[in-house]
Amino acid sequence: MSEKLEPLPGTADIWEPETSQWIFLEQTARGLFPRYGYSELRTPIFERTDVFVRGIGTETDVVQKEMYTFEDRGGRSLTLRPEGTAGVMRAIANQGVAEGDEKRVFYMGPMFRGERPAAGRRRQFHQIGAEAVGRAAPAMDAECIAMLVHFLEELGIRDSRLLLNSRGTAADRPAVAEALKAYFAPHKEALCPDCQRRLDANVWRLLDCKVEGCQPLINGAPKITELLGDESKTFFAEVCRNLDAMGVAYQVEPRLVRGLDYYVHTVFEIQHSGLGAQNALAGGGRYAIALASGDRTVEGVGFALGMERLLMARQSLNLAAAEAPGCQAYVVALGPQALALALPLAQELRRCGVRTLCETAGRSMKAQLRTANKVHAKFALIRGDSELEKGTIVCKNLDTSVQEEWPVAETAARLRAALAG
Ligand code: AMP
Repeated sequence: MSEKLEPLPGTADIWEPETSQWIFLEQTARGLFPRYGYSELRTPIFERTDVFVRGIGTETDVVQKEMYTFEDRGGRSLTLRPEGTAGVMRAIANQGVAEGDEKRVFYMGPMFRGERPAAGRRRQFHQIGAEAVGRAAPAMDAECIAMLVHFLEELGIRDSRLLLNSRGTAADRPAVAEALKAYFAPHKEALCPDCQRRLDANVWRLLDCKVEGCQPLINGAPKITELLGDESKTFFAEVCRNLDAMGVAYQVEPRLVRGLDYYVHTVFEIQHSGLGAQNALAGGGRYAIALASGDRTVEGVGFALGMERLLMARQSLNLAAAEAPGCQAYVVALGPQALALALPLAQELRRCGVRTLCETAGRSMKAQLRTANKVHAKFALIRGDSELEKGTIVCKNLDTSVQEEWPVAETAARLRAALAG
């Protein structure tokens, strides 16, 4: 027996009918995001490693433990993209954004992280994301979040929770870090080893820890929003006011920080109850970054959604599966003459928009009809010597078994009418 070649752990083949679900997600995004002024950007799947190290930050789990990095023949270090933002920023830096101008893009596609595979956690997973880069305004954050929520609505995903917080500006950081350190330091022994290290290296990231034992302490930590300066408090209040005005429901989660160090002001996450342990459906926030080294800092706001998790959420809600486009007509050909004319007829039907399969082997009528049923064709178009003589074709409705004989020249028009009827 031949050995089966399974896809690698944490990766998957996607077959119909699931493929149609993916296409539905992609088409919904492509239909919706342009309504908010976003256009699609496709960046390469691998980049110079440096693009991600600079973009994501060396202190993150993604950069420290999860990147698929390899050397090309020239000895350059390259990495399969673990997320979309860094590549998008590189691309935008290439084009430049004029001061006071704004670029809005969305993207979708595979991302790669060497994580331990689990339900909802893959090594090759897929994201849909959006970034609005160039300006700093709380209304932009609210608009971006509203678009994300609108997208979930369009997909029929209910029962999600939008968590919102502010990380303030760089000027707020020292005071917040000091307050957090003062709170956690007396409990150092009770923290997990990673958090003990974070206490000195980057105390903010301690709030992101998922280890069970650290949660009681984290839950009692000072609320970031209360430690921020006036400018940041005003910015956050404006984001909330705009969300309220648009009727977007949210919950302020004062200890939500999200991993990346470049976040300023708004951070948010969407959780869904149907996802189990990996309950984050989407995450994002406002960031301040230098597009190119030594360049001025620009601000942007964006998010990324996990496509696998979107599908899991839809499944948990029993949402109707998008239909895979099935075969509409099967051309049955009996005898060598009919067989020679089968492909040209199929081709004509396809040009007229009919999804058509066609006999290619000259098998028996029974075998051909069996195939037509197997591919769930709606109609079989049958032609043998006698039909050829009369210039006709027999159309059999495979659901009802009702047959009609048509002039062959009218096949396409009549079939389209039958499919529409
Ligand atoms: P992140 O880029 O880590 O902020 O993740 C954004 C979203 O991508 C998450 O909310 C998940 O929905 C999804 N995601 C992240 N990592 C994975 C993974 N390993 N497998 C599947 N989905 C993921």
